[in-house]
Amino acid sequence: EIVLSVRNLTANVDGTPILKGVNLEVRSGEIHAIMGPNGSGKSTFSKVLAGHPAYEVTGGEVIFQGQNLLELEPEERARSGVFLAFQYPLEIPGVSNLDFLRVAYNSRRKAQGLEEIDAFDFDDLIEEKLEVVKMNAAFLDRSLNEGFSGGEKKRNEILQMALLEPKLAILDETDSGLDIDALRIVANGVNQLASPENSTILITHYQRLLDYIVPDFVHVMANGRILTSGGKELALELESRGYDWVLAEFAAEV
Ligand code: ADP
Ligand code: MG
Ligand code: MG
Repeated sequence: EIVLSVRNLTANVDGTPILKGVNLEVRSGEIHAIMGPNGSGKSTFSKVLAGHPAYEVTGGEVIFQGQNLLELEPEERARSGVFLAFQYPLEIPGVSNLDFLRVAYNSRRKAQGLEEIDAFDFDDLIEEKLEVVKMNAAFLDRSLNEGFSGGEKKRNEILQMALLEPKLAILDETDSGLDIDALRIVANGVNQLASPENSTILITHYQRLLDYIVPDFVHVMANGRILTSGGKELALELESRGYDWVLAEFAAEV
């Protein structure tokens, strides 16, 4: 079952073409890693999928579960089962993490045609999910993301993911500030939540994240395109040989 199909996607930022024809197909149960040098368009790709308003789609299509994703508002994308780790990076003083998670969860249930669950049932559910990220319940009473450390933010992202059970999770592990603990949190979360029923796109500059998560496919993005794709062994090759050979070998072909 094809979950996501991206065809010839092009996008601009401030009138400058950044994505120059991205093609990608993701099936149920697959983990895809998108790697590539800095500035190649990886984060732009994830933001376009999220529907970030600063990114203008100029061509191509994105079909998610048979639906044109590009037509949906960012919130609708989330409700329909696409999870982006940076969708909720905002700090909201006065809104507890628990309340926020309950609202997000019920909004997803509503989109699935299910009834909202009440606060008591939600407490039981969240307790289960806290186990996945080994998070302390006290964490839920704090304001959303306010004063969270980098590691706590990561844990919270994975908690959101565990709770929302997305069909497709897109995790952009940006180049900054992922220490080894954060890497492990992300990796454990992804590994525990991955199932034949869902799919993950892991965007990472770092091969070392792939020491903990074994992807089914590795794609190399450069200059706004996916230049080549392979299996998990491609990540190891990138680790030992860098990216230059990929550009030299494949840039002329696409
Ligand atoms: P990566 O995640 O692969 O490092 P990005 O998608 O962040 O790459 O960036 C790709 C290119 O797009 C870079 O040249 C970057 O400077 C440019 N870019 C990304 N976002 C913006 C923005 N908001 N405004 C201007 N240029 C941007
Ligand atoms: Mg970057
Ligand atoms: Mg990036």
